[in-house]
Amino acid sequence: MYASTSIAVSRSAFKENLRHIRRLAGQSEVCLVLKGNAYGHGLELMTRLAVENGVRHLAVFSADEAYQILPYCGDECRVMIMGMIPPEAIEWAISQGVSFQVFSLPRLYQAREAAQKVGKKAKVHLEAETGMHRTGLESEDFQAALEIINRNTNDISFEGLCTHFAGAERISNHGRIKRQIRRFEEAISKSAKAGFAPDRLHAACSAALIRYPETRYDMVRIGIMTYGFFPSPEILIEYNNRHGDHPNPFQRLIRWTSTVMDVKRVRRGEYVGYGTGFQSGSNSRLVAVPVGYAHGFNRSLSNKGSILVRGQRLNVVGLVNMNMLLADATGLDVVETGDEVVLIGRQGDAEISVASFAEISNQVDYELLTRLHASIPRILVD
Ligand SMILES: *Cc1c(COP(=O)(O)O)cnc(C)c1O
Repeated sequence: MYASTSIAVSRSAFKENLRHIRRLAGQSEVCLVLKGNAYGHGLELMTRLAVENGVRHLAVFSADEAYQILPYCGDECRVMIMGMIPPEAIEWAISQGVSFQVFSLPRLYQAREAAQKVGKKAKVHLEAETGMHRTGLESEDFQAALEIINRNTNDISFEGLCTHFAGAERISNHGRIKRQIRRFEEAISKSAKAGFAPDRLHAACSAALIRYPETRYDMVRIGIMTYGFFPSPEILIEYNNRHGDHPNPFQRLIRWTSTVMDVKRVRRGEYVGYGTGFQSGSNSRLVAVPVGYAHGFNRSLSNKGSILVRGQRLNVVGLVNMNMLLADATGLDVVETGDEVVLIGRQGDAEISVASFAEISNQVDYELLTRLHASIPRILVD
């Protein structure tokens, strides 16, 4: 209620992006990744959108995110936790039919015990260590995990076998990714030798979907492209090279706006805002906007960022405050309190892209998006 800033999320852009992702995924299932408050788009809203558009597999990082989305998932939609489950949440996950990745033997034992308590099978996805060296079962432990599952098929359902690539969005990592693909293939044969054919083999994120289509397997885990962005400029180039006839069809879902809160005249020579970070070089007119670093408008955009008002780009002047920023509106003929301000998105012919924003604040798109504060209302629009 009474929010000073809000983020509109476009349903039609989401549908288009999903359509293109499905086309690229071919036969393999699309699992949407909703971690980081759905890359800043709002966890609940994105879950509803995904389910409404027939997505049947969702991935989150943690048990607490799974807990938040479950009420919107319906019966046919599976939820997978890729990362953290506190031990006390394992029984809950199993009782809810939520699957989770297993990257250590203790977790596998915990899953077995919890399954026995709950009286329901634990759905596990074994994560193989293939070279990222973050989480993942090393070869010996992987073999041991297969044996444990083999002896406990009443309590453990081996639903998936997966891995994650260590930077598929950069060509400089090519050798490392290729090695990971080979090691993943080895893990697949090991599990086949142990007599398993898990329902889902999955490895690819957005970058791998474009650059290593051979890693699509049964399912792809797609985050950033759902929201209309490429994981890196390299992957955009790669996409355009491969699909020259349909260059980048992905669309941003979000439009971040606020309103002009006040208009103020400042005489030449006066300092503006806190301290001496900006001195007015001429008689000028400023607008105050109720958005600051508390909302995710990075402080490093002080004297650097820009906003749109009345279809014109205005420079941020002075320091970005916790809840406010000032911009130079001297160039506008008319500007009034209540005018729409665009922080990300289009207004008239002008546009502020996430990339431009991210570049000058030294962030990657992923980071900028997830830093859009969760308290900003997300509003679904067509
Ligand atoms: C975030 C994440 C993805 C999705 O990555 P994108 O680059 O956003 O497509 C896939 N798998 C895992 C394990 C992840 O953590």
